[in-house]
Amino acid sequence: MEIVHVAAECFPMAKAGGLGDVVGALPKYQALQGHIAKVVVPMHRTEFLYQQQWELVHEGSQYLGPQFFHYSVIKEKTNLLGFDLYLIDINGLLDREKIYGYPDDTERFIAFQNAVCDWINSWKHLPDIIHCHDHHTGLIPFLLQYGYDCKDRLAAIPSVFTVHNAQYAGAFDWQRKYLLPACDMLHWSLLDWHHQINPLAAAIKTAWKVTTVSPGYLLELRSSAAGLEKLFDHEKDKSVGILNGIDTDIWDPAHDPYLLFHYTVATVAAGKRKNKEELCRRFGLDPDRPLFCFIGRMVAEKAADLLPGAIAACVAAHPEKINFLILGSGENQIEQQLELLTGPLQDSVGVHIGYQEALSHVMYAGADFLLMPSRVEPCGLNQLYALRFGTIPVVRAVGGLKDTVKDMGDSGGFGIRFEQPSVEDILHAVSRAVALYYEAPATLQKLREQIMQIDHSWKSAATQYLQLYKSLK
Ligand code: ADP
Repeated sequence: MEIVHVAAECFPMAKAGGLGDVVGALPKYQALQGHIAKVVVPMHRTEFLYQQQWELVHEGSQYLGPQFFHYSVIKEKTNLLGFDLYLIDINGLLDREKIYGYPDDTERFIAFQNAVCDWINSWKHLPDIIHCHDHHTGLIPFLLQYGYDCKDRLAAIPSVFTVHNAQYAGAFDWQRKYLLPACDMLHWSLLDWHHQINPLAAAIKTAWKVTTVSPGYLLELRSSAAGLEKLFDHEKDKSVGILNGIDTDIWDPAHDPYLLFHYTVATVAAGKRKNKEELCRRFGLDPDRPLFCFIGRMVAEKAADLLPGAIAACVAAHPEKINFLILGSGENQIEQQLELLTGPLQDSVGVHIGYQEALSHVMYAGADFLLMPSRVEPCGLNQLYALRFGTIPVVRAVGGLKDTVKDMGDSGGFGIRFEQPSVEDILHAVSRAVALYYEAPATLQKLREQIMQIDHSWKSAATQYLQLYKSLK
């Protein structure tokens, strides 16, 4: 089968979060299973772009409203990632350093999607599946069916749309409909949600199949989806939850190039200790105390706003017995409150504001516990990386966290779960972890060995996607 993935991110070309990890891994595993997997993303100006060799494969032009634009498609020459990676360049629109966050993001991603459809329409043969990811590509399933320039050839190609995060929909005013490529507006209602053009809603309505990144999240979306609950409920028959996997080549404590000290199940105790000492040295923390890490976007979705209060409460409850290390960026107020904590609590708390792939790997390896108090968690990859590195996840039971972490109090359990995104629940969960660390080191060691062996590789998920694609042919 030939599958084209379209997304805004693809690790290591461009990553802002889990979307990048998934789009950088799933196609690789599909290629390993003998399929042709292609990925197309915007030509963001990232380091990866300048480090690789590219060849020009196509040039075309389209309109963005009244504005004529020229686009080119370049391809990575060496199959470095295990699949064909294509980048769309639109001068002045896509060639920027950040992936998102510009005032003209709506225009940028409409032009991107328009160029993708136009390019695929120029192929001599056609792919078997077009698999779109998140709202930045949400107009594509509609355009394949109703875009005047491409529908004659492309309408027959099954489209799959994966919801990685339904908190972001990319909605914009109908007054700006002139930005859309020419399409059959008799079907305008397929684009509409609450009197706006809503790319996420359009994708859920028009894609042949919809997937979410965990089964638990799919269920939750029917009652909590930032205003799209009724739509998710209405489209439930064509929707399926497929739990993300992780790239076990990249996330491997035995070979991770970001780690100074490698380890396996057999050497986990010593290996984690050395990585922890290295981390604690960098941040002025005591390696003999349990180390809790948080890695992620500092937004309400991740309940990062609770961290300052929760950390203060945990340190007060366990004076001189606990350490926290936080890595992330997002809302200014949360960042500032966390940085302020490092003054009075500098012996117990380290904070790094920013995005640092290398540091995140050392944290997964050196931490004893990974804290994820998320309010919303579509799948969550951090807890899966933590498991692979022998780090006990301490998570709120929501979405994909609920699907992947079993409380150690339950039979076969290995992590710590709590119910509410609140300071009280975090304190209680952290206290359970502290007791485990100090009072039951043998159990902690056994859990580490157990969780490192849980299989969350992409093999099973890649097979499930394939079955889904086959059901559409
Ligand atoms: P999201 O909702 O942000 O996509 P996921 O759990 O699905 O959450 O994926 C998060 C990914 O982003 C993980 O690979 C995590 O290690 C990484 N990540 C998040 N914030 C940072 C950061 N500040 N520095 C390095 N990596 C980060």
